[in-house]
Amino acid sequence: MNELSSIERKRYARHFSLAEIGPQGQQKIKASKVLCIGAGGLGSTVLYYLAAAGVGTLGIVDPDVVDLSNLQRQILYTTDEVGLAKADQAKKRLLALNPHLQINTYFFRLTDENVLALFADYDLIVDATDNYAARYLINDACCSLGKPNVFAAILRFQGQCSVFAMPDGPCYRCLYPEPPSVDLAPNCSEAAVLGVLPGVLGSMQANEVLKWIVGAGDLLVGRLLSFDALKAQWKEYKLNRHPLCPLCSQGQAFSDLVRPIEMCKIPEISLAEFRQLVGDFKLLDVREEEEYKQHHMNGCLIPLSQLEARTHELDKTQLIIVHCQSGLRSQKAVGLLQREGFQQVYSLQGGIMAWEALGHE
Ligand SMILES: [Zn+2]
Repeated sequence: MNELSSIERKRYARHFSLAEIGPQGQQKIKASKVLCIGAGGLGSTVLYYLAAAGVGTLGIVDPDVVDLSNLQRQILYTTDEVGLAKADQAKKRLLALNPHLQINTYFFRLTDENVLALFADYDLIVDATDNYAARYLINDACCSLGKPNVFAAILRFQGQCSVFAMPDGPCYRCLYPEPPSVDLAPNCSEAAVLGVLPGVLGSMQANEVLKWIVGAGDLLVGRLLSFDALKAQWKEYKLNRHPLCPLCSQGQAFSDLVRPIEMCKIPEISLAEFRQLVGDFKLLDVREEEEYKQHHMNGCLIPLSQLEARTHELDKTQLIIVHCQSGLRSQKAVGLLQREGFQQVYSLQGGIMAWEALGHE
């Protein structure tokens, strides 16, 4: 079934003459199934090279549409595709490059509920995402299922890559055991990046994927490569399994692990907008009861710690403004409510502290 046709043999001729690949390696590449999470800057590069190399089955997970500001780095898309679904356009472009492939598209965001079943169908996972919530989710699922996680991350002029969740190798949680707090994590919509950087790091990911498939060379297991585009320098850091890693050292189950919520694109409302708000809306206070007793804004109190269990008390069709003390917990609350299907939820910037600073009581 994975026999190569004469046309395919011609297409991959430059692989055939590499001793590390050859006809047998090319058949392995054709037989392999790789899932790429994210079809943005990194995903564009990884997917394009893997399709060119002949990876037989490629999965693409991306719920977004092409935006004009993506085109500075997301080389799978063109100007006339702005507004169209990325996964669709990626599939079209990859099949134009190589029609001998099976390409599966998934137009949803990864969640705790769908990730394990989705990953089960693939041999290897590529993390080409741009946020911590997805990174922890991918890492935890890969470790639980024993599938390699080919990781890269980029920001400004810096990039990192490694291969996690390999037997005896460390995982992403060995590098960062605890998720960053919401105030430390960069907001994805604001994250600046040099356009060529995902090309460099995405190429490294594709390289690791192909090496893993054919079993050639030394994988980036237990090693983190860091690239500085301004200095044009690579640095290599040795990574060991962390003694406190909940997966590698403590054997925690996927369902027991604490993960950060999606921190990108949390809708916020400024104090000025809030003061001009007219019409029907619900003000939700997600602080603790003790804090509420000290001072409040007449909001409905559901502490963040109880919110998940009490979402049925809220109306999904109503506009909901969420506030807390300073505006951090309310962001988490909005993320949680969005995952529960609430469409019109906003976090009040600065929380009750900003409200009171303006002289309100
Ligand atoms: Zn680990």
